[in-house]
Amino acid sequence: MTASIDAHALPRPEQFSAEEWSARVQLAAAYRVFHHLGWTELIYNHISLRLPGPQTFFLINPFGLHYSEVTASNLLKIDLDGNIIGRADYPFNPAGFTPHATIHANIPGAHCVMHTHTTAGMAVACLEDGLSMSNFYSAQLYGKVAYHDFEGITVYPDEGPRLLRSIGDKPAVILRNHGLLAWGDGVPRAFAVLWLLQRACEIQLATLSMGKPRMVREPIQRQCTADSLQFNPKFGAGQDVFDALTRQIDRIDPGYRR
Ligand SMILES: [Zn+2]
Repeated sequence: MTASIDAHALPRPEQFSAEEWSARVQLAAAYRVFHHLGWTELIYNHISLRLPGPQTFFLINPFGLHYSEVTASNLLKIDLDGNIIGRADYPFNPAGFTPHATIHANIPGAHCVMHTHTTAGMAVACLEDGLSMSNFYSAQLYGKVAYHDFEGITVYPDEGPRLLRSIGDKPAVILRNHGLLAWGDGVPRAFAVLWLLQRACEIQLATLSMGKPRMVREPIQRQCTADSLQFNPKFGAGQDVFDALTRQIDRIDPGYRR
């Protein structure tokens, strides 16, 4: 039974440094967490993580694998020019490389970038007025959500500067007509932001199916965002949540640590 494996005892392949292996395991866990939450779109969408070091290399999923097949060792390491470093059995998806590389290269501290096409996220991205500040979760994202207009499939580098202008310093982005994106200084922070946005979109979708949303007053939005445990280091700031989810994934199938 795979779940009985001592997940932490799996050896590190010798071609990876300890730092790179640790990043690989954490990112592979994130892919499995997304799979568990249903935040997947066949073999599409991406989560990328910058590796420590002076040069900008980042890890991203091999194009062709489902999130449930991503492991620490099959993640692709690529540079900002799109060169794959080391062994690769799969290519990367250019529609993922273009925006992720742009963000990793240009936003200081954007070490992890996550992008989803969930139904609720896309539904809100397709609404003229976007995210409604009408629920517990959106109220925790006051001043944190940017919008970027749809320009088609994200394979053209010239969209990069416009994407960066749209994002500014906001950690959550609604890609209009397209989906959600979040970034952070690491996997846990990016996950915390994306989770809030995803839940806000799910509640908005449910609310709009019943009637007119009741708005949260702006001072309350500000207070909710200031008080949000998702951003408070005293309460884990996403780390505790991600650790708990990683333990859950380890109980289901620690094979991502290979
Ligand atoms: Zn997309």
